[in-house]
Amino acid sequence: MILRAEAFAKTNLRLEVLGRRRDGFHEIDTVFQTIDLTDRLEVSEAPGRIDLECTDPSVPSDSRNLVVRAADALRRRFPDAGGARIRLEKNIPAGGGLGGGSSDAAIALLLLARLWKLPVGPAELAGIGAELGSDVPFFFVGGTARGRGRGEIVEPLPDAPSRALVLVVPPFSISTAEVYSRWRPGDAPDPAGPVFGPNSLASAVLAINPEMDRHRRAISRSYPDCQVSGSGSCLVAWEGERNAETAKALASELPGARVLRTRTVSRSEYEKRSTLELSLRR
Ligand code: ATP
Repeated sequence: MILRAEAFAKTNLRLEVLGRRRDGFHEIDTVFQTIDLTDRLEVSEAPGRIDLECTDPSVPSDSRNLVVRAADALRRRFPDAGGARIRLEKNIPAGGGLGGGSSDAAIALLLLARLWKLPVGPAELAGIGAELGSDVPFFFVGGTARGRGRGEIVEPLPDAPSRALVLVVPPFSISTAEVYSRWRPGDAPDPAGPVFGPNSLASAVLAINPEMDRHRRAISRSYPDCQVSGSGSCLVAWEGERNAETAKALASELPGARVLRTRTVSRSEYEKRSTLELSLRR
């Protein structure tokens, strides 16, 4: 049996950092939003071990990969679970603030639980996912959702209106851990527009790589409602009345960066394409 599903990227419509906690994590209040940019996962049974093939050579395919860590976590919880061969087609840039690794982990948990016929539902899987990364539980909800705590306490919100978006992917990534370590309580956030912001992490992200500011100035000339995506290097903007020509002109101003036109993904579309729906129906 081969099972396949798409693992969606997210952005944050807004992100407020409330403070640093005693355990070293930061307390946040954010609104997550799934967007139409996906990795693809394929799992099939294989005797006794976890074998991951990943199409992006810059992402490790050993036990550092969140997909392998998700499989290992499930096998620890359910010692009778089998092995699996997993193929991961990466399209979501790593370290871009798009939650790709977390999304892959959530979808791997869902697919492997079905493959191995484990007696476990999405709520318990989301709990296992929270131990792998703060953003993982959001991918058991999708659409528009509020995230509190370190992001792992997720409350579904009514879907925000469907929006066309533009995403700028610079040719470098930014580490989430470094962004949080640079964050200071008085940092000026990205200002709020009709769809995006504020994002309290913007100053920290911009301070890490001076190229970020050049990218942000270029995008905001054409798309005033834009912000840094979460804690990563990507910038996201509401397309509004602008079109493919505007995106093309922006791409020519930023050689080396990728400019993608995408859109928000509602919870019902998310549930279908991620196969979460099948788990909810059981
Ligand atoms: P977030 O918005 O959740 O902080 P991000 O986009 O900034 O996410 P990810 O792409 O989720 O960051 O992860 C980046 C780091 O995680 C990289 O160091 C990468 O090597 C590692 N990683 C582990 N597994 C994966 C995976 N399946 N896909 C992408 N990166 C992964």
